[in-house]
Amino acid sequence: MTSEQFRRYGRELVDWIAGYLARVEKLPVLSQVRPGEVRARLPEHPPVAPEPFDRVLADVDEIILPGITHWQSPNFFAYYPANGSGPSILGELLSAGLGVQGMLWTTSPAATELETHVLDWLAELLDLPPKFRSDGAGGGVIQDSASSAVLCALVAARERAGTADRLTAYASAEAHSSVVKAVRIAGLGRAALREIAVDDRHAMRADEFARAVQRDIDAGFTPVMAVATVGTTGSGAIDPVPAIGEICRRHGMWLHVDAAMAGTAALAPELRYIHNGVDQADSYCTNPHKWMFTNFDCDAFYVADRRPLIQALSVLPEYLRNEASESGEVIDYRDWQIPLGRRFRALKLWFVIRHYGAEGLRHHVRRHVELARQFAEWVAADDRFELLNAGSRLNLVCLRHRNGDEATRRLLDTINASGRAYVTHTSLDGKLAVRVSVGQTRTEYVHVERLWELLRSAAG
Ligand code: PLP
Repeated sequence: MTSEQFRRYGRELVDWIAGYLARVEKLPVLSQVRPGEVRARLPEHPPVAPEPFDRVLADVDEIILPGITHWQSPNFFAYYPANGSGPSILGELLSAGLGVQGMLWTTSPAATELETHVLDWLAELLDLPPKFRSDGAGGGVIQDSASSAVLCALVAARERAGTADRLTAYASAEAHSSVVKAVRIAGLGRAALREIAVDDRHAMRADEFARAVQRDIDAGFTPVMAVATVGTTGSGAIDPVPAIGEICRRHGMWLHVDAAMAGTAALAPELRYIHNGVDQADSYCTNPHKWMFTNFDCDAFYVADRRPLIQALSVLPEYLRNEASESGEVIDYRDWQIPLGRRFRALKLWFVIRHYGAEGLRHHVRRHVELARQFAEWVAADDRFELLNAGSRLNLVCLRHRNGDEATRRLLDTINASGRAYVTHTSLDGKLAVRVSVGQTRTEYVHVERLWELLRSAAG
């Protein structure tokens, strides 16, 4: 592609994206295609001769778009948001344009130094404990996902424990499935994860946790790590981090705090209570790629002491040796993550933070929390519904139909088949629940109000 063609098609593509974001609200949120439908429209073999770019773009409209579930729609209330925003899309584009591999400081000093700096900014914006900033023993790194973060935390915890023998890990029964996966990948054995019972607010029971740890110690196991969740996926529950941290400290265990979604709330000082006890954590993560207007992938992972992480993950072949690394003056982020290669993800987070400023970010987060509060109020006032997570709401509202699972399932199916909104489900206390996750970058009062109308009419 010549430079001239790149300019032309680049402008066309940016125009296309701007147009898409302007009209996405009108598109059916949940893709309506059947399995295999997208592939059936693609040629069986790759093209032999070059194809003009306009033809490729036309196929985006005709083949790809129908197979898209519109995560950028303001009517998207499913799972958790995977937000984008103008500045983050442009940051992503620039990252691709520069195309650097930031595995070592020396492979692109700006990629490393911007990442360190932006993660210090983020720690400041969220008012995280100073030990997570890069000027001491700890620091932050951008991982692709919270799943990678918990795996890295676990291998660092094992490194610090100094043994790989008969290790056990702990998380509540409501913790994210990525904890189960991390324990499996790290080779602790499936049985090594203790799922701790939750209380009636779906938060980990610290007394049960303490008992499980003691039982394991008595049986000759080495408890290595606990994961406390700040904002569970199912219902937004917040584990009692101070009590969990105290038990971890008593037994020399690593505490990882998973605030994948909810951590963004701490941008607003009045919501910082969610981070009570985080000062006891050895590691912490939150996902700007969920609620902080930064497109996937961008997980901010912090450690209080980077040494065990680096010791666990650093492997130095001859071809990566270089003077800067050997000087000890630089960070090589390849040693803070599982893969060697790494994209320049800090650019998009930097663009987002600079575009919105702390005030802008807070404004949007507060608005989402307020919209969720309003929605919950409507739900609570309607006899047909049961509001399930009044105590841990932030921007997630969980509810069910009082007539039981079948009626709740009908709510989901009716709303999603309408194409006018998309909500997903979970199971709470063994019963089906609708999750309404308010947090898409462009969601306004009118979208939440429309969802409420849909819910009411679906309830019959
Ligand atoms: N932890 C929690 C609490 C989550 O809600 C999620 C995703 O919803 C994850 C971890 C996994 O996030 P990721 O996709 O970044 O691995």
